[in-house]
Amino acid sequence: MTVWDDLVGQERVSEQLAAAARDADALVTAATSDAPPPEASKMTHAWLFTGPPGAGHIQAARAFAAALQCVSPDRALGGVPGCGFCDGCHTALIGTHADVTTVAAVGTQILAEDMRDTVRKSFTSPATGRWQVILVEDAERLNEKSANAVLKAVEEPAPRTVWLLCAPSIEDVLPTIRSRCRHLNLSTPSVEAVADMLVRREGVEPGVAAAAARATQGHVDRARRLATDPAARERRAAVLKLPLRVDDVGGCLKAAQELVDAAAEDAKALAEELDAKETEELKAALGAAQGGRLPRGTAGVMKDLEDKQKRRRTRTQRDSLDLALTDLTAFYRDVLALQLGSRVAMANTDAEDALERIARSSSPEATLRRIEAIGACRDALDRNVAPLLAVEAMTMALRAG
Ligand SMILES: [Zn+2]
Repeated sequence: MTVWDDLVGQERVSEQLAAAARDADALVTAATSDAPPPEASKMTHAWLFTGPPGAGHIQAARAFAAALQCVSPDRALGGVPGCGFCDGCHTALIGTHADVTTVAAVGTQILAEDMRDTVRKSFTSPATGRWQVILVEDAERLNEKSANAVLKAVEEPAPRTVWLLCAPSIEDVLPTIRSRCRHLNLSTPSVEAVADMLVRREGVEPGVAAAAARATQGHVDRARRLATDPAARERRAAVLKLPLRVDDVGGCLKAAQELVDAAAEDAKALAEELDAKETEELKAALGAAQGGRLPRGTAGVMKDLEDKQKRRRTRTQRDSLDLALTDLTAFYRDVLALQLGSRVAMANTDAEDALERIARSSSPEATLRRIEAIGACRDALDRNVAPLLAVEAMTMALRAG
């Protein structure tokens, strides 16, 4: 199983990346021996991976990072780097390679201080690997300051440094940064390709795999989760019942409260799993005495950790709500398909009764207005409107009539 096998339905992108990885490998070999460098190299110092949510643009970047560090002996025999098994590939994939640095937003933004050490590292040579790889998972969350720091680093890269930036779309990244990147756009994988992956890789029963792939419409991670995690299936079923519950104001307010509570619970569960452990580890590192008394002058570091944990909680809650909004949008898209007499590619074939009821009792115009209301809720959350307020406005707009 090579690193390229992780990319579902992305043959064209895989081929391009494999070719670049091969040239990258030849460049390093040429620099460290008498071998000639490749002609017209397909390798470059900065890449931008984009794609709709779940298409796998971050996985593609990670596979490429692994291939750049591949040390499999097969490479010398003309094999494609990215064997998936050698030490370079393996450590890059599990996140322990010394020369692969991954940056992901803790909260809703990547701050300049989150980026400082990484930018500094980008100006150095790789420690043990073949390339110094910096992978930014959500470049759309760079703020003005951190984006400027990245821009400077991308403008004058060290000879063996590669920046891999990921974002939903090319418009999400500053024009000055993206003009210096080679752009690869992943398309949504087909429902068949996702179902096939679930059967082959996860051992999911074909019927369940097909339903999960259809319900998530080409979102690979969500399909995997839905096919393998009963709690995820329950959550989705609850969200899909919402359209039938928003008959009156009371129902709308109650449904909104439940959605927000469920998201807050997700955030709390993750916080419980991580916060206490992190805090203990930091205290130990700072040399806290028995009874938890911290040495003088370390309060600032503890405060930084608390801030980080708070940002993470907000972000988790937001992501969880976002997932519910995605399911709801898919539901009303199916309603619209029914109203317009088109049943092709419906996502929620398992909620057919609810779909038919809503389709019969409303017009296509009303459905479009409802889809817009969900989009407006997402925009409001992006603008940091209080979640309950934004979701209540949405459920009220979903009401019949
Ligand atoms: Zn390898």
